[in-house]
Amino acid sequence: MPLEQIAFGSRPACDYGCAMSKVPFSRVAMLSAVLLAGCQPVACDVRVAGSDFAAARERMVRQQLAAPGRGITNARVLAAMGQVPRHEFVPAPLRARAYGDHPLPIGYDQTISQPFIVAFMTEKLEPQPMDKVLEIGTGSGYQAAVLAGLVSNVCTIEIVEPLARRAEADLKRLGYTNVLVRAGDGYQGWPDAAPFDAIIVTCAPERVPQPLVDQLKEGGRMIIPVGPAGDQALYVLQKQGGRVEKRAVLPVRFVPMTGGSAGDR
Ligand code: SAH
Repeated sequence: MPLEQIAFGSRPACDYGCAMSKVPFSRVAMLSAVLLAGCQPVACDVRVAGSDFAAARERMVRQQLAAPGRGITNARVLAAMGQVPRHEFVPAPLRARAYGDHPLPIGYDQTISQPFIVAFMTEKLEPQPMDKVLEIGTGSGYQAAVLAGLVSNVCTIEIVEPLARRAEADLKRLGYTNVLVRAGDGYQGWPDAAPFDAIIVTCAPERVPQPLVDQLKEGGRMIIPVGPAGDQALYVLQKQGGRVEKRAVLPVRFVPMTGGSAGDR
């Protein structure tokens, strides 16, 4: 199992070399080679047919998520990962690499997470059809789109305004009508839409923001990477009887949470 996610916020253009994947480089490279075959470099995204993306997505689910050693088993999560057009959430010149086992840069020094990490976090959230979910760190909007197919409503907050606006436009263009995007500091949560059945955080604060704990329903789940750069873990929190139980489930590497979270450093 890959132990690190891979949001290399401080690096300008993340390439294969910085993806912390246990899948051999050669396999990733081969997948790209297949997708790139027959394309002119510049117009590649236009020339990769929709059916090639569908096939790449199906392979992604089989090889990167459901395979032994990866162990994503929730059938609804696997189905959602098999449906969402990840290539629509990455910059056009990178579309042929959208289904590789790695994160990709999305501009503004941010990244779209590795598919495995998206699936792992979604599974740990135990999404239910009637849930209202809050996401902190919209980024490309991809994680929000995966959740949109699994729950009733998704509220997602992004601190980099142009990313928020672009994700909002992409989600609308692709027909996701149950996702609300807000540009702002996710450290504060979304008080007027609270409480939430589940909260997913895709940037790393050094401590769990109290406003997010306050906005979680009784019995609710939160998945959140916590810790300084180089020493982070993904935690699952559960609010039970007014208490919060917290357990670490995976060592990871995410971009830091900025905004109000910086005061905790
Ligand atoms: N979930 C995203 C990937 C997120 S990368 C996807 O599916 O593409 C982490 C994101 O968190 C970045 O876009 C970063 O700008 C954002 N972020 C960092 N600090 C934040 C904060 N305080 N509030 C909201 N978003 C924040």
